[in-house]
Amino acid sequence: QAKARGRNGYRFYQPSMTGEGVERLRLETYLRRSIEKEEVFLNFQPQVEIDTGKLLGVEALVRWNHPELGLVPPNRFIPLAEDTGFINQLGQWVLVEACRQMVRWQEAGLVVPKIAVNLSAKQFERGSMVGTVAEILRETGLEPHRLQLEVTESVIMNTGDALAFINDLHAVGVSLAIDDFGTGYSSLAYLKQMPVQTLKIDRSFIKDISTDVNDEAIAIAIIQLGRSMNLSVIAEGVETEQQAAFLLRHGCNQAQGFYYSRPVMPDDLLQRWLP
Ligand code: C2E
Ligand code: MG
Ligand code: MG
Ligand code: MG
Repeated sequence: QAKARGRNGYRFYQPSMTGEGVERLRLETYLRRSIEKEEVFLNFQPQVEIDTGKLLGVEALVRWNHPELGLVPPNRFIPLAEDTGFINQLGQWVLVEACRQMVRWQEAGLVVPKIAVNLSAKQFERGSMVGTVAEILRETGLEPHRLQLEVTESVIMNTGDALAFINDLHAVGVSLAIDDFGTGYSSLAYLKQMPVQTLKIDRSFIKDISTDVNDEAIAIAIIQLGRSMNLSVIAEGVETEQQAAFLLRHGCNQAQGFYYSRPVMPDDLLQRWLP
């Protein structure tokens, strides 16, 4: 059993051998109770200004630790939560918890400039979403400009009234980032109408940035696109100093990735960043 434990003492989820359908059902059943059983929590990954090392913000990433299954990866349970509709409850929990954590850090003396929270398509479609966000901000006391919502290109392109939705969010004072940028299909003409603040270069383009000329070209193109559209651009998945140096050289001064920090617990973030 010790062998199955990860660095931080967690056991990691291993799919059982009983077949995909049964496995799915089992996960679904457990997942539905995960919030009330207090099995879900958030990790936070710093977003850093490359040239100064300054903390620009954090991204909230949900974790699910089931007593039997161990730590189930988000890529496994988020799609399930989306299919079952549980994502609305989970997404709401994440939003509340993220905002509360920002206030806790503030009270402990650390002002984190902003927190980014992932939204899935299902949440984006919900008519009441903007109202819910506004209410959570009011209840937790977090200033709206400190909250950024992350959605993927496909969410924006496939949502009927994305423009109205994004305008409403904008009016509340919350900003929007396009996650995994470059991996989806987006019409730049459409994008141009959206009050979006940030493009996040997908980590697949960062991985081989200094060896693959295509990835290099794509990363540079996104940086330039961001500049010409007056958007801020952040690179995901930065793991090496070389990657960071490349980005800086090409005009991208914001990064997130293991080179700076893995996603961590709130206290670890305090320890590292408290002035
Ligand atoms: P994402 O939003 O693109 O988040 C970034 C993912 O990349 C995270 O994986 C993070 O741990 C990982 N990552 C960060 N830096 C590095 C790096 O340097 N190298 C590598 N190899 N990986 C890095 P994670 O936490 O497993 O999350 C996976 C995805 O699950 C997220 O991708 C996001 O789409 C989704 N997700 C996570 N939390 C939530 C949530 O609260 N709500 C929703 N709707 N989706 C979430
Ligand atoms: Mg994200
Ligand atoms: Mg991403
Ligand atoms: Mg992703």
